[in-house]
Amino acid sequence: MQGLIMDFELTIPVMLRRAEQLFGSQEIVTRLPDKNLHRYTYADFIPRARRLGAALTELGMGRGDRVGTLAWNHYQHLEAYLGIPAFGGVTHTLNLRLHPTDLGYIAKHGGDKLLIVDESLLPLAQKFLGETDIEQVIVIGDAAEGTISYEELVAGTDDPGDYPELEERDAAAMCYTSGTTGHPKGALYSHRAIFLHTLVATMSGVLSISEADTVLPVVPMFHANAWGFPFSCTLVGAKQVFPGPHLDPPSLLELFQDERVTITGGVPTIWLGILQLLDQQPDAYDLSSLRAMIVGGAAAPRSLIEGFQERHGLNVLHAWGMTEMAPLGTTAQLPPDLMEASDEEQYAYRAKQGRPVFGVEMKIVGDDGGELPHDGNSVGELLVRGPWIISGYFEDAEATAAAVEPDGWFHTGDVAAIDPDGFVQLTDRRKDIIKSGGDVGEAAAIAIPHPRWGERPLLIVTPRSGMPAGRRPERDVLIAFLGERFPRWMLPDDVVVVDELPHTATGKVMKTRLRELYAAHTPPAIVNNINADMNEALRQPVPSATPTP
Ligand code: AMP
Repeated sequence: MQGLIMDFELTIPVMLRRAEQLFGSQEIVTRLPDKNLHRYTYADFIPRARRLGAALTELGMGRGDRVGTLAWNHYQHLEAYLGIPAFGGVTHTLNLRLHPTDLGYIAKHGGDKLLIVDESLLPLAQKFLGETDIEQVIVIGDAAEGTISYEELVAGTDDPGDYPELEERDAAAMCYTSGTTGHPKGALYSHRAIFLHTLVATMSGVLSISEADTVLPVVPMFHANAWGFPFSCTLVGAKQVFPGPHLDPPSLLELFQDERVTITGGVPTIWLGILQLLDQQPDAYDLSSLRAMIVGGAAAPRSLIEGFQERHGLNVLHAWGMTEMAPLGTTAQLPPDLMEASDEEQYAYRAKQGRPVFGVEMKIVGDDGGELPHDGNSVGELLVRGPWIISGYFEDAEATAAAVEPDGWFHTGDVAAIDPDGFVQLTDRRKDIIKSGGDVGEAAAIAIPHPRWGERPLLIVTPRSGMPAGRRPERDVLIAFLGERFPRWMLPDDVVVVDELPHTATGKVMKTRLRELYAAHTPPAIVNNINADMNEALRQPVPSATPTP
């Protein structure tokens, strides 16, 4: 017998209708490319998102059609995030830090029909448009010949006042993984997945976001739904602050201070830069409003968590997730029984990835697929399932078969131990182990300490078996090969060629041993131009942190 409850579809228009009714006066602030601030309210945002959705429909966006976005974090990107799926389209966020070849592949494979692009990123788009099926380009800023002006499009379309009827299992958004160990793979989220993920993200004990908050996502909107911030803020009516392209520490700190930001989130590199600046100028900014700095995308070093807390009284919240998980998986909020624990014990827990958020179920398995105990010592691959975790990759049967078990569990590729009290600690990543043809037999990337960036990648490879005696893979050749696929700042600082990689009894590369062996490794030069590239990278949003072990 079924319950007598309405079949009420869990879709994005439900969030928009409520936000428009209740939070009209709440503010949305954006730092523009010229560094001025743009301000408007939810009463402006939501009708504009609706007009955008209606305009795109007139331009040919049908149900399920993908609309690419290539843009920084700003209010128009927010309008697209919500307005496209509210009218039945699928927002496909494109990572502006990827190589044009990858972008072309991703936009083509994702089937993008329209593209919304920042004026400053149009030259990048022009490098890959020819590889795609994109029919029309909409430019935020001055529209070039043959493109459509975003502002004119929105201004020239009547507000339809409401939304089309949608079903909760309809696709709403799409995001590709950065594909460091193969071709990029597409995650396709449904309205229902986003709706449920959003509810849980706002929960107290998870990210705890409410109407009283001011939230600044440093995490780019193209990285895993900006960890859900645009949706969760809109759901609860939080004030939203967008940094635009200005991600240097002083610009961010100024916004935290002036807009009284309470919650922010980004990858560790961003916070390392901010911590350095605060250490140099401890009294330069009033950060008393800041309640949580969420760090994810790569492991948050304990020294980072401790440094912010001890020297600046700032709370870092460590979280783990994946593009394939929409992305939230765990947060390292301390449970009440640890509140009284020693500082040492508290930091040890806060540096772990944390406990699963409601809705995400986890297990760790050994090489034989057998489930391992949650005893804090047994280490195995982490498998997950839940209502916002992908059931397969978009049009990629091979990758799906490799990642999804017939009974539905998803292989994260992360290697972890789970404590009896449910805290997950990542110890390694299976997916870092790259097998490649050519001269390389086996390869592993590890992080080595770096005085400026905290960590930089070091690549360790073995020669292919059967290679003629005396011939070895060459450092410069390998770096040049990788340089064709990745931006310079993602490249390893150095390549070490060894005869054999250390393996565990079950055949996995022992990254821990490699880290011990190469902790003091110094690349031939801590290369100046890498630093220049990293500076450039810090000025721009850091994309998916996948390449950083
Ligand atoms: P992405 O899909 O780009 O967000 O990358 C997801 C991957 O980043 C995960 O599978 C992890 O390997 C890594 N990752 C994300 N968050 C963390 C974290 N807090 N600690 C360690 N690794 C992380």
